[in-house]
Amino acid sequence: MSDAPAALSDTAADGAAADGAAPDYTAPIDAANDSASNGTAPGGTARSDFPVDRLAHTGIRTAPVAGVTAPTAEPVTAPTAEPVTALTAEPAAVPAPGTTAPQRPLGPTGRPLPDLPVPTPLQRHGPARVIAMCNQKGGVGKTTTTISLGASLAEYGRRVLLVDFDPQGSLSVGLGFNPSALEGTVYNLLMERTARLDEVICKTNVDGMDLLPSNIDLSAAEVQLVTEVAREQALARVLGPALADYDVILIDCQPSLGLLTINALTAADGVVVPLECEYFALRGVALLTETIDKVTERLNPRLRVDGLLATMYDSRTLHAREVLKTLVDGWGDAVFHTVIRRTVKFSDSTVAGEPITSYAPGSAGADAYRQLAREVLVRCHEG
Ligand code: ADP
Ligand code: MG
Repeated sequence: MSDAPAALSDTAADGAAADGAAPDYTAPIDAANDSASNGTAPGGTARSDFPVDRLAHTGIRTAPVAGVTAPTAEPVTAPTAEPVTALTAEPAAVPAPGTTAPQRPLGPTGRPLPDLPVPTPLQRHGPARVIAMCNQKGGVGKTTTTISLGASLAEYGRRVLLVDFDPQGSLSVGLGFNPSALEGTVYNLLMERTARLDEVICKTNVDGMDLLPSNIDLSAAEVQLVTEVAREQALARVLGPALADYDVILIDCQPSLGLLTINALTAADGVVVPLECEYFALRGVALLTETIDKVTERLNPRLRVDGLLATMYDSRTLHAREVLKTLVDGWGDAVFHTVIRRTVKFSDSTVAGEPITSYAPGSAGADAYRQLAREVLVRCHEG
């Protein structure tokens, strides 16, 4: 795996966070990331190479966002009351002088919300768009987003396959499966040439949504794949026969940038990056996009960043509002308009082993993921 970055554990990614030093909110995101990866103090230059052109396909450009390529011009610790209030008050957008453009309400990211139509039913299914849910940090909402987005897409009539690609098997548990009782898992498909996809795929309680489960066996695959031919393409090979049967395949990645995640990125058309609205969450984004760039250059030229998703947002805290503003200032249209707020309903639904869309169908959390599903379909030119 000469090209792929060395496996970067959760703790390694958070190394700078764990050193007990007071957070340096004035450090550029990229510099912070560098410190996370090499343990040195922040002090580099602001990132200016985010591939914004990759978002051209999204069709969402509601407003030019200043500083798309030069994040964190504003120190996070020097908030002014105005812009932050604007994020929560969600007033109507002010049209430019001399125009009569209809007013669109501002969303929680401070940008006018685009039109997100209810998706039209499909006459036929496939080929699937493969989306990897990726962030080397744990606990940011990857698994929750995989389940909830998948269930929302299924509600809109899309055929969905969820791939549990984390040896912890949280996705399988979150859908009510017992990982240690599974007969076949994604591990068997990766390592045994005779294993059959249709024998491993499980139906879930959500109509139209299936699961490719996993358990702790998958951790062995990371080691065993190293000596395999085309080790980065193993998951793409496994998913090949499923493409025709589904509209969307969502891969729930493990919290690292190791070989399993490289496999997910190699198999994917798009990446969604869930990010907790918390300062340290910002520190990993540049490192992740660097990895995505490498995979795009060397293994999978069709890979796109579908979007950065702010999760666990609490509009009552200044900190969360500042982090969201920093995210939008720095990454512009790459940030989804949909923001997932913090609510205990997500933990409750995990315990219940079902998606929030069926556990609490009328909740704000369920609605947010339905909106995300619409936004994802619009970004993928499928409305
Ligand atoms: P990851 O897969 O990135 O490790 P998870 O999706 O497992 O993250 O989420 C970590 C924890 O946070 C879980 O207990 C989950 O129920 C909870 N959680 C996820 N999203 C939210 C949210 N929007 N509000 C509150 N809790 C959340
Ligand atoms: Mg997870």
